[in-house]
Amino acid sequence: MSRRAKSLTREMQKTSHERETDTGTKGMVVTAHPIASDIGRDILAKGGNAVDAAVAIQFALNVVEPMMTGIGGSGFFMVYQKKEDTVQIFNGHSRAPKAAYANMFVDENKEVIPFKERSTHASAVGIPGILSALDAALKKYGSMPLADLIQPSIDVAEEGVEVNWVLSNALEQHGHRLGEHAKSFFFPEGAALGEGDLLVKEKLANTFRLLQEKGIKAFYEGEIAEAIVAELKEEGGLIELEDLKEYSATVDEPVWGEYRGHKIASAAPPTAGGVTMLQILKILDTFDLSKYDIKSKEKYYLFLEAMRLAFADKVAFSGDPEFAELPTKGLLDEQYIKERLQYINFKRRNDAIDFGNPWKLEDDQKPPVKQPDDMEKSETTHFTVVDQWGNIASCTSTVEHPFGSGIMVSDYGFILNNELTDFDANPGGTNEPGPWKRPVSCKCPTILFKDGKPVLTLGSPGGPTIIASVFQTIVHYLDFGVSIKDAIDEARIFVTTGPLVEWEGEMDQNAKGELQAMGFDFGDEPSSIGNVQAIVIDGENGLLHGAADFSREGKAAGLND
Ligand code: GLU
Repeated sequence: MSRRAKSLTREMQKTSHERETDTGTKGMVVTAHPIASDIGRDILAKGGNAVDAAVAIQFALNVVEPMMTGIGGSGFFMVYQKKEDTVQIFNGHSRAPKAAYANMFVDENKEVIPFKERSTHASAVGIPGILSALDAALKKYGSMPLADLIQPSIDVAEEGVEVNWVLSNALEQHGHRLGEHAKSFFFPEGAALGEGDLLVKEKLANTFRLLQEKGIKAFYEGEIAEAIVAELKEEGGLIELEDLKEYSATVDEPVWGEYRGHKIASAAPPTAGGVTMLQILKILDTFDLSKYDIKSKEKYYLFLEAMRLAFADKVAFSGDPEFAELPTKGLLDEQYIKERLQYINFKRRNDAIDFGNPWKLEDDQKPPVKQPDDMEKSETTHFTVVDQWGNIASCTSTVEHPFGSGIMVSDYGFILNNELTDFDANPGGTNEPGPWKRPVSCKCPTILFKDGKPVLTLGSPGGPTIIASVFQTIVHYLDFGVSIKDAIDEARIFVTTGPLVEWEGEMDQNAKGELQAMGFDFGDEPSSIGNVQAIVIDGENGLLHGAADFSREGKAAGLND
């Protein structure tokens, strides 16, 4: 399937292109749904800042993109504060409950429980962290009351929202993941809601009202928390009231890298997203990509080998930094990158590519240990905002797989994540499940700086394809001189440690053939990779250029004088 999942007429393409790009002088919002983008822009128009708008957007996305994100999910919320010139990550990543244990995803014969089963079981649900992250960011930088930021989403939930083609496709393809309560909600009278049907969410609106009245704490203690625990207990889940009560988002430093003279801030572990994406860029920075065509086999070749090198390291060296030391410094070390470059031969796919030893470039040396790799692709959402003061909020938030665990907290109208499937199901490595631990994520909300000023912010959903989508958009934009919209829409490819290359339908077929002749193994069918939302900050002209990916109903909404 191509990323343009629906066949659009020329006229429709033109309209969607118009919706997906916009220019603003006083602010910009880009999300994967028009209603969420409009709500965010309205907040900016009322004088709210980037953090205010992002909080409002997160609630809105729970209503309009319920298969991707929601208050039962988690996320990394990145904030650039212009006045202080700081970048912080409000890290609302899920933690495993205290009762989690290393063998939780294997059966009594030590066989890994099949993915469909373990990912829809109550034990896959991590403590939802996104609300705690929003709360922390809002308390520190917000300027509007939480209640005002929730209200627009209550209105939409009560009035109802039309099911768009993205939700309708998700129900068609992933409806089988839904548990009993979610099934009766999305499949009233047994049939899936279709495009154009009205989705009214009374229960979710009431839950939002509770949060409006009592604040975010009401999610982690009291009737909502009790309902979560009861729902999960019934299905063999491990989360207790204490787990919810004790959960609190952390505020983390970003991880920093460079590319083509830009400084880049991205999310740090427990997401491997930032480090892996920056490692790929560091490898690519040593080549002059601009001398090749944007559709050339050379570009794709370098993308593929850089991804294979970095993902081999990602699988070997990622974990929760509260539980394991990670060689982050070594992975981005100049000398280490030089060693990794020797695997790039420009002749054939290098079968010798495996993880390296970044530890030897750290003060504290450790032998590398190979870890199991059973990453599954997921699809969630990314949104980003720049306000009139130049502050940025960029957030990748998720319920993990489409419709998360499929478990809906029935009286409260929201779905719970299955974030714990990001742990290695096979125990023994740094990313094995454990009490209070956070699984390795790939999310990487990112900001690029030039001469100390932010010039681009972007991010994507898509599990491990997040990394591929973000670095490829950056390279397309910086090396090939195309607009940010074209940089997003240019076909992407993806590979990790396995042989199979995933590719988008718009990829140049000659380049693909040449790469096959070099030994790369492409899947038969194209697939959709990531869903990037980005904002270019043109400080010189005082303009903000927003662009949304065409693979969903994204919208860029600018605010003008
Ligand atoms: N498994 C994903 C992660 O890396 C969830 C995010 C997404 O797919 O968008 O955290």
